[in-house]
Amino acid sequence: MIAATKPDRPPPSPVKALAERDVFFPGTEDLGPDEMRVTACGTGMPNARPKQAAACWLVELGNGDKFIFDIGTGSAERLSAMKIPYDYLDKVFLGHLHSDHFGDMDALWVGGVVGNRLRPLRIWGPAGHEPEYGTAYAIEHMEKMLTWDKGSRLGNVDIRGLELDVHEFDYKAVNEPIYQDNGVTIRSIPAIHALDGSVSFLLEWNGLKFAYSSDTFPNKWWREYAAGSDIAIHECFASPELLIQKQKFTPQTALNVGTQVHTSPAQFGKVMSEIKPRMAVGYHFFNDFDTRPVVLADIRKSYDGPLALAVDYMVFNVTQEDIKVRMAAIDEDIWPQPATQAKLPPDFSQQIGFSQEIISGRLPYPEVVQDIYDDINKRYGTNVEPPTK
Ligand SMILES: [Zn+2]
Ligand SMILES: [Zn+2]
Repeated sequence: MIAATKPDRPPPSPVKALAERDVFFPGTEDLGPDEMRVTACGTGMPNARPKQAAACWLVELGNGDKFIFDIGTGSAERLSAMKIPYDYLDKVFLGHLHSDHFGDMDALWVGGVVGNRLRPLRIWGPAGHEPEYGTAYAIEHMEKMLTWDKGSRLGNVDIRGLELDVHEFDYKAVNEPIYQDNGVTIRSIPAIHALDGSVSFLLEWNGLKFAYSSDTFPNKWWREYAAGSDIAIHECFASPELLIQKQKFTPQTALNVGTQVHTSPAQFGKVMSEIKPRMAVGYHFFNDFDTRPVVLADIRKSYDGPLALAVDYMVFNVTQEDIKVRMAAIDEDIWPQPATQAKLPPDFSQQIGFSQEIISGRLPYPEVVQDIYDDINKRYGTNVEPPTK
C-alpha cells in the first residue's frame, strides 16, 4: 500500500484588483492630467444597425473638458453608457448636416434635459452656401419640430437645459479657430462631401492633436493640417466591392458613392500614408468578420503604420508616451447620472395643461393614489398632496 502524500498547498488565489486592465469600464478610471481619452460612440454607416450607431466621437481631456464630434443616429445611447453627467456633455461639433452625423441631436437635447442636464446645449457647426443649408437653420427647425415636446416639459422639470446655443462658422475658413478656452483650441478645415458646407476638425491641447474628418473626399487641407496628428480619425467607407456584394448597389453607384462621395479603404490608406499620424483610425463601414479583412487589405496597399478599424465602444487613451487601444465594457442597465448642480423645483405656473374636454376624462383612483402619496411623504418627510382637479 502506498502512503498518500499530502500535496503542497497552492499559493492563495489572488484577491486584489489587477494593476493593468485591458478593458475600459466607464466611470472607474481617472484620466491623467496630460491624457486624452477618445471613445467611439458611433462608427457605422447611414443604414441603422444594432451593432454600430452612426458617427459620433467623444473626446475627454485631462483638464476636465469633454467634446462631442458629430452625433449620428443611435449614438446618444452610446454616450449615456459612458456614465458622464449630462452637464458635461454640453458641447457638440458638427462636421456636416447628414442625419448619420447629427440625427441624435434631439435625443441629446431633450434626453439630456430629462437626464439632468441643467446647462444650455452648445452646438458648433458650419454655415451653408445659403442660410437654409446651415447649422443654425437646422437647429432652429429641430427646435420647432419639438414644440410639443418642449411645451410638455414646462412646469414639470428644471428646463434650463432646453436652451440651445448655436455657433455657426464659415465652412470655407482654413485652420481658423472656432473654439478657444481652457487651453483647448478647435479649428475647422473645409471638407469635400456631398455639398458645400462640410468640414473636418482639429483639436489641440497640451501638445496633443486630435484630427476628425467627419466625411470627406481626400483633400489638400486634411493633408496639410492633419499631418503628424496624434490620433487621426478619417472616414473609411465600405469599398465599392462591398457595396455591390452586401448592399446590392450597381457598379456605377458603388463606384460613385464609394470613391467620390466617400473615401474608400484604399484611398484612406493613401491619405494616412501621407499624414503619418501616431494612430490612424478608420470608421464609417460595417466592421464585421467578413468585411474587416477586405478593408484591411485595401488599406495596407499603401499604409503600413499604426491602425485601428473602429467599432462602437473602442477607447483610445492618448499621451505623449503611449496610445492604448481597448474596448469598453458596457453596463446596459445604467440610469442617468445625477446633475452637478442643484435642480430648481418646477414652476407649475408654466404648465400648459389640458383642455376641459380632456381633463374631464381623468379617473383619479384616490383609493390607490392617496396611498402612494402617503407612503412617499412618510418615507421622505414631505407633505405633497395629489392634485384635486
Ligand atoms: Zn455625410
Ligand atoms: Zn457619414
